Amino acid sequence: MRKSVVAVVGRPNVGKSTIFNRLVGERISIVEDVPGITRDRIYAQVEWLTTTFNLIDTGGIELSDEPLLVQMREQAEVAMNEADVIIFIVNGRDGITAADEEVAKILYKSNKPVVLAVNKVDNPEMRENIYEFYSLGFGEPYPISGTHSLGLGDLLDAVVQHFPELDQTPDDDDTIYFSLIGRPNVGKSSLVNALLNQERVIVSDIAGTTRDAVDTPFNKDDRDFVIIDTAGMRKRGKIYETTEKYSILRALKAIERSDVVLTLIDAETGIIEQDKKIAGYAHDAGKAVVIVVNKWDTVESNEKAMKEFEEKIRAHFLFLDYAPIVFLSALTRKRTHTLIPKVLEASENHAKRVQTNVLNDVIMDALAMNPTPTIKGQRLKILYATQVSVKPPSFVVFVNDPELLHFSYERFLENRIREAFGFEGTPIKIFARKRG
Ligand code: GDP
Ligand code: GDP
Repeated sequence: MRKSVVAVVGRPNVGKSTIFNRLVGERISIVEDVPGITRDRIYAQVEWLTTTFNLIDTGGIELSDEPLLVQMREQAEVAMNEADVIIFIVNGRDGITAADEEVAKILYKSNKPVVLAVNKVDNPEMRENIYEFYSLGFGEPYPISGTHSLGLGDLLDAVVQHFPELDQTPDDDDTIYFSLIGRPNVGKSSLVNALLNQERVIVSDIAGTTRDAVDTPFNKDDRDFVIIDTAGMRKRGKIYETTEKYSILRALKAIERSDVVLTLIDAETGIIEQDKKIAGYAHDAGKAVVIVVNKWDTVESNEKAMKEFEEKIRAHFLFLDYAPIVFLSALTRKRTHTLIPKVLEASENHAKRVQTNVLNDVIMDALAMNPTPTIKGQRLKILYATQVSVKPPSFVVFVNDPELLHFSYERFLENRIREAFGFEGTPIKIFARKRG
């Protein structure tokens, strides 16, 4: 199911990234527990009441060394292309500036709803400053303070009111959506072609093009797959080609729609920092992940080489210890037939539900094997566990005091659950809840 997208725009220093971080807040602190995850994010999920949407900080999209005005224009264009609703931020202390008017002029041309937020209204007295912003022509200005977290609830209420009715893919649809991510030249397009040209893959002739990517449905071994190809989308003008962050944004949107994400690594050049960053996005999004080592034809291929490369990957991608690794060559097609079975398996594990009584047997066995720790004289008590959702499988463990469930014990429980149920290819989540 597609989530609504909200973009934050405005001239530099009005507080875009401050607001972005405030709105995303809690989620960022959760994902940052995991080593190797990037911090300079421009795209993240926000939960508000019963809705979840994706937020883009257009200020984080670096557009070369263009003059400021050009950059602002391009950022506003990204927002208009990508977002369902735009939050236009101005600075309540400065009044309307020429640069604000410039941004406004671009937004007038959009038919997307715009919600105007007047930032840096840090106290009630300053609310009088907001009236002049009516003249920008976007209706009621919402006074907010990013640094003091004021007015954000009213702002979000106004934003979610504008969400469109989105087309929803029913949850019982067992089509497997997957995408390929990786740095330029790693072989994404080549692998898409190799997969689609394989025998026994029947490419449907209703290949559709969505706004963001080329979706190609195909059928293999009686299962329906859709490959979401972003690599082919490079024709929408200058910024779409030249901006690294923008191509990341595009990959993020593909990840969002995927069940399984194939993270490609180039065997010839080896693992670089950028690979980790890209893989981190898939993990963050809670998607199933398969690591694909492409260009395996360039390496002397034997068991030993494979083992060594695998060890390297495991050392670099600690947070992806659950992801299977497939070695192949998109060019020679060698071993490409091993990929789809792994995608299928990861996808099934990602959607797997386990029985509550079996889960609790596993937890009780785990407790017997490795008693819960005592922290500051208090012992962690685990009462009961249950799986609360799938994609990814998520578990709630009821405990006497959530603070007592430390990372290492949680990790131990996760490993026991993995051993018992086989969740290869998917992250799993464990939440502790207090139960008196
Ligand atoms: P951006 O360039 O639009 O992303 O702006 P930033 O988020 O980097 O903020 C620019 C400056 O304004 C920083 O020094 C922030 O601390 C400050 N700032 C952001 N929000 C507020 C606010 O609500 N009140 C005040 N007084 N300062 C703020
Ligand atoms: P993308 O930018 O990730 O879509 O990468 P491409 O699919 O365009 O591939 C980049 C380059 O790597 C091209 O020259 C491909 O021919 C080459 N390439 C792709 N897969 C392989 C492979 O398995 N082995 C070798 N030797 N080269 C490959």
